[in-house]
Amino acid sequence: MTTGFEPSLSRAEARSRMAEALEQAGIGEARGDARFLLLHLLGLTPTDLALRSNEPIGPAGAETLADALRQRLAGVPVARILGEWEFRGLTFALSPETLVPRPDTETLVEAALRLLRSPAPAILDLGTGSGCILVALLDALPGARGIGLDRSADALSTARGNATRNGVGSRSLFVRGDWCAAAGGPFDLIVSNPPYIASGVIPTLAEEVRKHDPMAALDGGQDGLDAYRAIIRSFTERPGLLAVDGALAFEIGYDQAEAVATLGQRAGLIVEGVERDLAGHPRVVMLRPSSDVTTHDKVVQ
Ligand code: GLN
Repeated sequence: MTTGFEPSLSRAEARSRMAEALEQAGIGEARGDARFLLLHLLGLTPTDLALRSNEPIGPAGAETLADALRQRLAGVPVARILGEWEFRGLTFALSPETLVPRPDTETLVEAALRLLRSPAPAILDLGTGSGCILVALLDALPGARGIGLDRSADALSTARGNATRNGVGSRSLFVRGDWCAAAGGPFDLIVSNPPYIASGVIPTLAEEVRKHDPMAALDGGQDGLDAYRAIIRSFTERPGLLAVDGALAFEIGYDQAEAVATLGQRAGLIVEGVERDLAGHPRVVMLRPSSDVTTHDKVVQ
């Protein structure tokens, strides 16, 4: 099988050749991946491809596509080949120490937006990675400002670039730190998609995740709950971290809702609810400080 492309090859031929090679190699989404890679790597819109499918890919296109096909055949995920991925309609650059943004995490952003009571909130994103959660929130909330914390300098510089690229650079700050250690407060909203896979489950993850997503963003310790414990401990030690009418939203593993809710309750937080992802799995636990008088809003409204 050849993975080479001649510059005279048309866009349509190049797409078929890619799809066939991926299909033969048993790559699940062969046709979809081929189309997606072609569009993005050649900088085409779907209309360009539909109406001008006979145009040649040219020497630069031939080289880029051959390189992408080689990587995809070697099991590199499409997002890593492109080096960027979409999240809530915004584009995020990726680096080795950031997760590829997942659709599940959009559920976290939606839930966080519904939780907000302040029109100009101060937001804290713990383990910000590519910055996708914080940047998406700031994009949706023009009056908001936010801090993204991460232990990884590589992730922080990627997140900073993503904030600037998506027009929220002046309202965001990215700081190196271990969970809440570097944060002041009070914050109106604290969000986190921490590592939550139990260490023993890591070997069973899909190869594309296991080999290409950063382990520090996946491995949540023996029971997967280490990060939640560490973060929730900060609220007990520093009650001023969360504003009195603030809220906290955690992304969780599909079977962790009860465990994370219990950790929150033990620290005096109130469970506001659990949000499900598009597949119907519990995906977000929402918590509030106990001093918050929730009934007040119900009476007033
Ligand atoms: N949802 C991710 C996955 O299953 C895990 C992300 C995380 O641990 N925060 O690949």
